[in-house]
Amino acid sequence: MKIVTDPEVLHQKSRLLEPEELSGDGMKKLIAELVKISKSGAYGVGLSAIQIGEPVAITAITIKPTPNRPELEVFDQVCINLKVEEGFGEKEPMWEGCCSVPGEDGLPIYAEIPRYKAVRVSYLDEAGNAHDEKVEGFLAHVMQHEADHIVGRIITDLVDRSEFVSCDEFHKIMEEKRNENH
Ligand SMILES: [Zn+2]
Repeated sequence: MKIVTDPEVLHQKSRLLEPEELSGDGMKKLIAELVKISKSGAYGVGLSAIQIGEPVAITAITIKPTPNRPELEVFDQVCINLKVEEGFGEKEPMWEGCCSVPGEDGLPIYAEIPRYKAVRVSYLDEAGNAHDEKVEGFLAHVMQHEADHIVGRIITDLVDRSEFVSCDEFHKIMEEKRNENH
């Protein structure tokens, strides 16, 4: 399965779903596919259906602790109609990349994108149950990114292209940061 990188496709608004639609075979298949890809990717923390060319409001979020981020809590959930209802405090610049926004080397480019540290989000789970919850930290960050995909917004719409660095440079910056903290 190829990840979509065409901005024209990514700029489409995804269609919101009714809970009844979720039990259809086609939808179940699409959800399973999204979860599979999200879990397999090197940057696999979240993937929205538009990123595989399907403009429907389904997002797989698959967060688990990694060697670089051992403090992360597991969040493994399909979010339908994911929406940021409210942001708390001021937005702060957070480093972020997207597998749909690659540089010349084919790897994601990164920039500091203004994001809230905590947000209130609404979504339906796979069973169609409505959720309305306050989330914070890394999960809040990922959810803001994915909710943007649902309305057809990508990170190069939020920050000027000149602010972005290559994947290589990003890893160097992160390493320098780690060394500063020691
Ligand atoms: Zn993305």
